[in-house]
Amino acid sequence: MDAQRTIRRPISCVGIGLHSGNKVHLSLKPAPADFGIRFRRTDLGDHDVPATVQHLAGIQLATGLARNEVSVETVEHLLAALVSVSIDNVLVELNSPEVPIMDGSAAPFIYLIHEAGVKPLGAPRKFLKIVRPIAISRGDKRIALYPSDHFKVTYSVSYDHPLLRHQSRTLRITEESFAEEIAPARTFTFLKDVEMLRQNGLALGGSLENAIVLGETGVLNNPLRFEDEFVRHKILDAIGDLALVGHPVIGHLVAHRAGHALHTEFAAKILEETHAWRLVEASGDALLPHSAPVTVAVPRLAN
Ligand SMILES: [Zn+2]
Repeated sequence: MDAQRTIRRPISCVGIGLHSGNKVHLSLKPAPADFGIRFRRTDLGDHDVPATVQHLAGIQLATGLARNEVSVETVEHLLAALVSVSIDNVLVELNSPEVPIMDGSAAPFIYLIHEAGVKPLGAPRKFLKIVRPIAISRGDKRIALYPSDHFKVTYSVSYDHPLLRHQSRTLRITEESFAEEIAPARTFTFLKDVEMLRQNGLALGGSLENAIVLGETGVLNNPLRFEDEFVRHKILDAIGDLALVGHPVIGHLVAHRAGHALHTEFAAKILEETHAWRLVEASGDALLPHSAPVTVAVPRLAN
C-alpha cells in the first residue's frame, strides 16, 4: 500500500507577506488520514479553509482560498512543497492572510518539512490517474494533461524581454527532482510593474531578497540560481495550483504561457471531466484491479 503521509511533529517559521509586507507566523501541524491540506487563520478563530478548488478565490498575482469570509493568499509555493514531499494531510496555521513569501521559492518550505519529518498513516493514498487528455486554451495560453505512467511537467514561457524570449523544460516530478530542480526557483517580476503594484498597495513586502527583478535588459539581482530559473518557477507554481484537485496526479501536464488563473481554472476542469481520470491506489504502472472510476462531486468556483 502507498500510505498517506503527514508530518512527524509540528514546526513553525516567521516570514513576511509579499503583498502586505506584514510579519507572518506559519505553523505546520500533523493531521490524520483523509484530513487533506487545510489552512487555519489563528487570528480569526477555528475556521479551516481546505486547499481545494471549491474554495478558490481571488486569483490575480497569486493563488488565494476563502471560506466563510476567512481567506488565505499566496498558497501556491507552500502547496507545491507539501504535495511534492507527498504530505497528504497537514494543518497550516497562519496569523495573517498571507503565506510568508520567504525567499520567493519553495526551498524554505521543503527545508521546514524535512525538519519536521514525515510520518506514514494507516490509509492508502489515492492518485488521480489521467486516462484521457484534458485541455483548455485561452488565446495563446494553453494547459493540458495527458496519460502518462508518472507525474511529469512540460512548461514553456515566452515574454517580450531579451532574457525571456523563450524557455522550456520537461521534468519528471519526484520528491528528489522537485527539491533539487524546482523548489529553489524564485518568483520573478518586471521592474516596470513594481511601481504599479506598489501604487495599488501590492508587493509591499517585495524586495530583491524574495523575487528576481527584471530590468529593461537584465536581472537586477544576479546571480540566477538556474539559467532557466523563470520556467522552473512556472513549473513550481503549476504544481502548487494543481494541488487544489486534492489528489496527487499521475499524468503529463503540458503548459504554455499559462499562469495562476489558467492553472486554477484547469484544476476545476479536471474534477469536472470525470471520464478522463480514475482514482487509483498505486502510483506508477501497477494499477490495482479495483481501480474503478469513482464519482466525485463537481466543484463550483466561488466567484
Ligand atoms: Zn510563484
